[in-house]
Amino acid sequence: IKRIGVLTSGGDAPGMNAAIRAVVRTAIYHHIEVTGIYRGYEGLIENDLFVMDSRSVSSILTQGGTILKSARCPEFRTKEGRATAYKNLKDANIDALVTIGGDGTFTGAEVFSDEYDIPVMCIPGTIDNDLFGTDYTIGYDTANNTVIEAIDKIRDTAASHSRLFFVEVMGRDSGCIALNAGVAAGAEAILMPEKDTAIDELIQMLEEGMDKNKSSMIVIVAEGEKNGGAYHVAKRVKEKFDFFDTKVSILGHLQRGGSPSSFDRILATRMGYHAVKELLKGNSKSTIGFKGNQIVTTPLHVALHSDVFKLDEELLEISKVMSI
Ligand code: ATP
Repeated sequence: IKRIGVLTSGGDAPGMNAAIRAVVRTAIYHHIEVTGIYRGYEGLIENDLFVMDSRSVSSILTQGGTILKSARCPEFRTKEGRATAYKNLKDANIDALVTIGGDGTFTGAEVFSDEYDIPVMCIPGTIDNDLFGTDYTIGYDTANNTVIEAIDKIRDTAASHSRLFFVEVMGRDSGCIALNAGVAAGAEAILMPEKDTAIDELIQMLEEGMDKNKSSMIVIVAEGEKNGGAYHVAKRVKEKFDFFDTKVSILGHLQRGGSPSSFDRILATRMGYHAVKELLKGNSKSTIGFKGNQIVTTPLHVALHSDVFKLDEELLEISKVMSI
């Protein structure tokens, strides 16, 4: 391998920059050149490439978002789109690829490397923590900290006015943020896409909380179709449970931003370093993961086609005990 291309794709996540920096510096340390690809697969198809050196990743370790930008690219789902992408890679003398993103990004990498002879390594960067083959994805820890800080503030106002707050957090298909933030911020109830919580059951929990003289209550609702979102849940609860002043707070995109936590910086740095090392060892079509305090790799066909359900049932049980 003489030149590695690196891109970020799908939803951005804090720590992606730390991963880019680690890829660039590890490659250069091993006398391999690096090309940055803007806007994920879109930039690859549109030939939006630039040569990176050690200084081009100065001061980005602490920054949220991604200096390479990110995009969703429908064209990469087509054979023609991928053919253009491959031609651009070859023209730029890129002979291996590191992609940083979520499962869509990994799927794109798998399809591409099945079609063309190009080694790929995938780094999990998404706040949702919903990928197989790693205990933690880059950005998840920072997003949790952001959510907890926000809920702590909401708790202050909720307690001052005896209010019931419904706080909507990200996680359309994954309740990881909802569950972790719920435990860390002491929520009274947590609604997640993986679990059916009937409104009646939720109301019963809230009534019990009221009977125990709780001065405020917080229900965390993971966004998404499954429960209809925080406004919908609040409306349905209010129809039957009208003892508390009810408010809704949607945390939204602020959950994606901010300077990465220490954990995410180190995780991203380790993953970026190992992505390059694995390519140099001749490994390809794999994801980098962090399991049991060790960096591991998982073949893409395993990571993408395994059951990704990994909600921590014990933590869920603990959250219920803690909310009495
Ligand atoms: P997040 O988890 O944050 O949403 P993601 O990586 O899953 O991130 P997606 O938008 O699903 O985000 O995927 C990113 C890009 O990967 C897509 O815009 C598309 O270009 C490419 N991609 C996804 N699925 C495929 C596929 N089946 N074939 C080719 N390319 C794909």
